[in-house]
Amino acid sequence: MDVKKYKQALLEELYAPYKKCQMCPLGSLGRKNIVFGEGNPDAKLMFIGEGPGQKEDELCRPFVGRSGQLLTKVLEAIGLSRQKIFITNVVKCRPPNNRNPLPNESETCTSLLLFKQIKIIRPTAICTLGSAATQIFLGKDAKITKVRGKLFKKEKAILIPTYHPAYILRNKTKLEDFANDIKLAKKHST
Ligand code: URA
Repeated sequence: MDVKKYKQALLEELYAPYKKCQMCPLGSLGRKNIVFGEGNPDAKLMFIGEGPGQKEDELCRPFVGRSGQLLTKVLEAIGLSRQKIFITNVVKCRPPNNRNPLPNESETCTSLLLFKQIKIIRPTAICTLGSAATQIFLGKDAKITKVRGKLFKKEKAILIPTYHPAYILRNKTKLEDFANDIKLAKKHST
């Protein structure tokens, strides 16, 4: 079995018991789907967002709404296709009204799924999108404006935090910084 197929099988095995997960309150707060993540199971570069929005919850795919479309455009502009990378979120269930995930929701979901996904995929670079994902690795005091575009060693990978694409949609002047951070992540993912 090749590595990609092997890792895909491990990811499926990880996902299987959680397809109707009720391990945290988000399981009973109106979510339709568990958005596990998608992309190359043997990706060198992994992107981690906060949690699924409405469109992601409906389609059971990460980053397919307006933020996702912006992210996909920036990726394509620098020669990265979504098939090449792996994209997921801190929490796999949509928080009601797109509120931030609560600490117990993030802790439960990252220990049951996110950290295990990272161990299976073993990316060389991880790009966190926004505060929620960045703080999982750098602690709750990490400010995205201070840490973005810098390199950290975490989970046997280089961590490159950047803005959340939803923030870029509201603050177009930060688009260049956002694209440069993603370029830096690409550079460290070989
Ligand atoms: N925002 C996120 O953080 N994740 C998604 O999947 C979509 C929007």
